Amino acid sequence: MQRILLVEDEDHLATALKLNLELEGFSVDVAPSGRRARELLVSPEPYDAIVLDVMLPDISGFQLCAKLREVGNFTPVLMLTARGTQEDRVLGLDSGADDYLVKPFAVTELLARLRSLLRRQSWDKKPAMASGLSFGNVVVDFDRHEVSVGGTPLRLTQLELDLLRYFAQNAGRVVGREELLEQVWKLRNYPNTRTVDNFVARLRKYFEPDAEVPRYFVSHRGSGYKFVP
Ligand code: CA
Repeated sequence: MQRILLVEDEDHLATALKLNLELEGFSVDVAPSGRRARELLVSPEPYDAIVLDVMLPDISGFQLCAKLREVGNFTPVLMLTARGTQEDRVLGLDSGADDYLVKPFAVTELLARLRSLLRRQSWDKKPAMASGLSFGNVVVDFDRHEVSVGGTPLRLTQLELDLLRYFAQNAGRVVGREELLEQVWKLRNYPNTRTVDNFVARLRKYFEPDAEVPRYFVSHRGSGYKFVP
C-alpha cells in the first residue's frame, strides 16, 4: 500500500482529502503543521509522496520543501496553494516541489497529479533506466542518486537529477525550454521558462569548470540548451 503524507492545516479539507485518498487505496497520515510533518518524516517508514500545503501555521510549504531537499529527502512533493501567481509557481518548483496545484482544485485532478508523480518515481527506480553518466570529472549514478565532482559527493534535488538525466538522454541535441518543462517538470503550456534557466544555471554552477563560459551545458540563442558531455 502506498503511503501519503498530507500536510494541511485546514481541518475540513484535510479530512475530505484523506477520505478520498483512502478510497483510492492509499494509506494517509495527516500533519496539520510543518513541525508535525517533520516529526512524521523522521519516522523509519518513508512516504511514497507528500501533498504539501503552502500556507501552514508555523512554516511555509516552500521552506519545508526546501528543507527536506537540503537534508536529502527526495520524496515526490505535490504543492497546494490558494495563490496562483506565476511567481508562486516558480517559487514552489524552485524549492524542490515536483508539481503544483492551485486551490480550489478538483479531487480528481489531485489524484491524477499524484498518480503521475508516483509513476515517475517507480520509473526512476527501474534499474533499466539510463543509470550512469560521466563527463569531465563528474560521475553520476542515477539509480543510487549519487553524484560526485572530482571525487567529492554532491547532493542534487530530484528535479536537478531529472533534468540532468534528460540532458544525458538527449546529449548533442538542442532541447528547447518548453520541451524541458513538459518532459522534466511535466508542465504543459507553462508561460514562464525562467525556471528552466534557473535550473540550468545550477547545473553549470555544480559541474562547469567556469560557469561563465559553459562547455557542457551550452546555450543556443532563443532555442534552448545543448548538453555536450
Ligand atoms: Ca493552509
